[in-house]
Amino acid sequence: MPSDSISFPYNLDTARGIDLHMHSSASDGMLSPTALVELCHQRGLTHIALTDHDTMSGVEEARQAAGRHGITLIDGCELSTRWEGVGIHVVALFPAGPGEHIAAGLELLKQARITRAEVIATRLERIGLDDALNCARAQAGSDRPLGRPDFARALVAAGLVKDLNSAFKKYLGAGKPGDVKTHWPALSDVVSWIVADGGVAVLAHPLRYKLTRRKLGALLDAFVAAGGEGAEMVSGYQNDDRTRDLASLLAKRGLYASLGSDFHFQGGPLAPGTFSPAGRTSLPPVWCHPCFASHAVAMAPP
Ligand code: AMP
Ligand code: MN
Ligand code: MN
Ligand code: MN
Repeated sequence: MPSDSISFPYNLDTARGIDLHMHSSASDGMLSPTALVELCHQRGLTHIALTDHDTMSGVEEARQAAGRHGITLIDGCELSTRWEGVGIHVVALFPAGPGEHIAAGLELLKQARITRAEVIATRLERIGLDDALNCARAQAGSDRPLGRPDFARALVAAGLVKDLNSAFKKYLGAGKPGDVKTHWPALSDVVSWIVADGGVAVLAHPLRYKLTRRKLGALLDAFVAAGGEGAEMVSGYQNDDRTRDLASLLAKRGLYASLGSDFHFQGGPLAPGTFSPAGRTSLPPVWCHPCFASHAVAMAPP
């Protein structure tokens, strides 16, 4: 665990060309891993992590593309978990590669996603989406594990809602019928797999769970108790005051800070490498974690 007082030779706010949270068509992103890495290259990124939901199946293809463009690719994924009835996402980063614990965990999550999709389908059929599972599969356009965005698009295609946002607002977002979390493993279990494989567990987008400050503190405490060592201080666009407050919550717990766009597709406000400024902070960047040892020098700007 780093101490608050350690000052690093460079700061998060001067870090450029880094994005440690992005999705490809291996989960609910629109671009293939190759196309995503090419876009990262065009945008001048040098250090990236592909963090698809509950799968690392796109990582190998991304690695090949990254190699062609001289980009450093950190192996990663974004894992679905539950904590006190809330769906919590954990970004796993494996600078030295994944191991057997995460491999077993991803197998479990794959099954959980299949079972969950069946439950979501049944619930959406009740509100008028006929043959929901096949409709979602048609939207996915491949045999990758289904996610809520596939059901959201199926609801739009069936004319039951006007757009994706309404689909989440009415049927799939937190607390709605299609928000099924019971299948996800506990936060502490997921964190323990990552730690057992020598990776770093990073709490994804802490401000997106709409928790009170007190509950967010409790989540961070539970995460640290489970072995979590990092959190995304900046995820996409967020309010500067909230970033500052989040930084102090992370500093209090000795967490490393990560940064990512959570990019899914082009045409929206986000692109690879775009997110709000980290601001001045003494928090250590996640790439200073010892498990990044072989990448640390490469990740330091000149
Ligand atoms: P799942 O992993 O299947 O639970 O689906 C969660 C994914 O749905 C997130 O990673 C986002 O990509 C997407 N999502 C969540 N909320 C919304 C929203 N309000 N509008 C559009 N997409 C969303
Ligand atoms: Mn997603
Ligand atoms: Mn997420
Ligand atoms: Mn994500």
